[in-house]
Amino acid sequence: MSKTIQCPSCHEEINEEEFLKSNKVCPFCNYHFRLKSQERIDLICDEGSFKEVFTNIKTSNPLNMEGYEEKLEQQREKSDLEEAVIAGECKIKGEDALLCVMSFDFMGGSMGALVGEKITETMLQGALTDTPVIICTASGGARMQEGIFSLMQMAKTSSAVSLMNKCGVPLFIVLTHPTTGGVTASFAMLGDVILSESGALIGFAGPRVIQGTIGEKLPDGFQTSEFQKEHGFVDAIVDRKDLATTLNYLIRTHKG
Ligand SMILES: [Zn+2]
Repeated sequence: MSKTIQCPSCHEEINEEEFLKSNKVCPFCNYHFRLKSQERIDLICDEGSFKEVFTNIKTSNPLNMEGYEEKLEQQREKSDLEEAVIAGECKIKGEDALLCVMSFDFMGGSMGALVGEKITETMLQGALTDTPVIICTASGGARMQEGIFSLMQMAKTSSAVSLMNKCGVPLFIVLTHPTTGGVTASFAMLGDVILSESGALIGFAGPRVIQGTIGEKLPDGFQTSEFQKEHGFVDAIVDRKDLATTLNYLIRTHKG
């Protein structure tokens, strides 16, 4: 008998073969399982075209936070990733692009100095070489362990977007579940086109915090990508199977 995976949303059993064929989307209720960074790269890039860049930048412990280095080491072992973002050059259905993929699996996709630096460097390279940049976001926000250095990444990445605008090089964002905090409050909302996966949580603070602050009940589906699209924060919700084709279309139509 073939293996099945239970959907955590509708609890139906999904045949493993079908599960992989649908890029880890539940065929019964459209629940999107989280993709690993490598799976996201494989989904978007032409086979074998992704070449990782900026691998020489390393995470430091700027505030000498106790236990931070050990925590990073544990996260590396657990997630098989060096950090919460991977940057690289690639081709998307034949078109050159620069791609950053964030991963929630590494410290909740939090943005510390290294994450901000890699994303900034990628955008600068894009601006200088006239290469479109695509950033797939997944983040719980700024990295607590790096304090003010994490918060500074919001200004740094935002000014890199501004340079891309001046150079006329497009930035495309793909929001995935969840994208919140300082990432939403900076480059993730500054793309020329902002795409999202279905059912992703997109917001700044979580619904409970907002409800507690304003003392009002929030509308149904608050902060889902569908809600954000209806309210103008998201341009389109794209199926995983159509993501590479859509990005290729955006690159071609934004050339020159
Ligand atoms: Zn389901």
